[in-house]
Amino acid sequence: MISEKLAEIQNSIPANVCLVAVSKTKPVADLLEAYEAGQRHFGENKVQEMSEKWELLPKDINWHLIGHLQTNKVKFIAPFVHLIHSVDSLKLLTEINKQAAKCQRVISVLLQFYIAKEETKFGLDYEEAIALLNSEEYKTFKNIQIVGVMGMASFTDDEETVRSEFSQLKELFSKLKVSFFKNDDFFREISMGMSGDYRLAIEEESTMVRVGSSIFGGR
Ligand SMILES: *Cc1c(COP(=O)(O)O)cnc(C)c1O
Repeated sequence: MISEKLAEIQNSIPANVCLVAVSKTKPVADLLEAYEAGQRHFGENKVQEMSEKWELLPKDINWHLIGHLQTNKVKFIAPFVHLIHSVDSLKLLTEINKQAAKCQRVISVLLQFYIAKEETKFGLDYEEAIALLNSEEYKTFKNIQIVGVMGMASFTDDEETVRSEFSQLKELFSKLKVSFFKNDDFFREISMGMSGDYRLAIEEESTMVRVGSSIFGGR
């Protein structure tokens, strides 16, 4: 049962770690079951699916966009999204700022980093993040707040590889904190860890885990 799985996971993670229940591809009834068990943070990777679920479900849910986001789709989620985990370019951040302004909101985002050894498509490296944060455009943004970093480890059983990638993300977070967000308490999130590796991620100081199949079953 979803509520039992949720309780199991919730009990196995520290109270200060946010559990984002990744509900992509799952029907609204499943999300409602999790909601009734007290879950308030849900993660989706597609704009349209997230918008449809947002319309149907209680409005005190915090919606996390965890998948790649195209600039032309930002406008659909700007009115309600809680946190965008997948910012990987200045262009995307510019659009989020613009759409957030239209909604008179400040939207929280994470910078997604490329940490896996394997070829994955999305994510910044350290130099790109520095360039973004040093850009003149970034300094003008009033409707976004960068609250931390996100990353996905390699899909491998090799624990040491996964651990070193998480540790690398934590390191990136710390460097950015010192250089750009020293006095900003809001810059505090490290979104890392999924069903297969969230325990390791928490050992490496994750503050936010994105768990799908362990709660809702396979997809
Ligand atoms: C699907 C997905 C997850 C959850 O994966 P599970 O293995 O089902 O826990 C976490 N993060 C991202 C970015 C995802 O796309």
